[in-house]
Amino acid sequence: MAAHPGYAIAIHGGAGDLPYWGMTPEKEKQFHAALVRAVEKGLAILKRDGSALDAVEAALIELENEPLFNAGVGSAINSAGKVQMDASIMCSRTMKAGAVAGIGRYRNPVQLARLVMDRSGHVFLAGEGAEMFAREMGLEAVSNEHFKIAERIAWWEDENRGKASSQVQDTGTAGAVALDRQGNLAAATSTGGLMMTRPGRIGDSPVIGAGTYANNDTCAVSCSGAGENIIRAVTAHEISALLKYGKMSLADACEKTMQEKVTPFGGQAGLVALDHEGNIKYVFNTKRMYRGWYHAGEIITRLYPE
Ligand code: ASP
Repeated sequence: MAAHPGYAIAIHGGAGDLPYWGMTPEKEKQFHAALVRAVEKGLAILKRDGSALDAVEAALIELENEPLFNAGVGSAINSAGKVQMDASIMCSRTMKAGAVAGIGRYRNPVQLARLVMDRSGHVFLAGEGAEMFAREMGLEAVSNEHFKIAERIAWWEDENRGKASSQVQDTGTAGAVALDRQGNLAAATSTGGLMMTRPGRIGDSPVIGAGTYANNDTCAVSCSGAGENIIRAVTAHEISALLKYGKMSLADACEKTMQEKVTPFGGQAGLVALDHEGNIKYVFNTKRMYRGWYHAGEIITRLYPE
């Protein structure tokens, strides 16, 4: 699908199967509305000539603050009963990137990733050191309980009673890609990871080149799904490389990467990619991927395959 030639934005709220607690028509409506709100946040910035970088950050903050998604409030809970969040952001104009992993006390991990990029002198900070940096940056700390929602607490309790299966792959990771009027691309991804992982486990979302990548020569990409496989496939960078060295179209590069690299690893996954022409491509091998994008003056949202 081609979007507005001047600017474009496409977001996702994760790829996976049914949430453990199921879905209702009322919940579906809430998902659509939340996706629209997040696209609007980014779009408002792009319309007033703001940067793609600011747009993806703003869209993700909206999704992190929304309990429906597995990022910020509503995040997955690990085997030790804690929320540990990962996020990253990348600017294609400067090729700078920022990432955080294992954050448990700061509301908006994507904002912290942006600060890492802009002000830390590093690309990737994890755990205690990342939270120390957040404090230095003047961000307000909250309790880890702040991020837990009732549905996930019940799931966690079922797991511990042996009543649930953490094989259920739920959705909710948040991602965004954008193109601004200056012709720059950006990508960002934020997640609570997967339910019941070991403490300290880091998925693809904060790994530049795996879950997130943006390059002005090619495209911007944000992934979701079984992070271990997305990392092994070096998914986001693979798509960029197929564009650059393989001279493929965005759509072909995304399909090929999903079919030949990610899916053979056995992982459920999905991704969104955007190029300079404003072409937007979603691919996913899951039963659903929450999606929202701007096309020809309209915001479009989808939850299931078309
Ligand atoms: N990719 C994320 C991770 O593995 C989870 C997800 O997208 O649902 O941490």
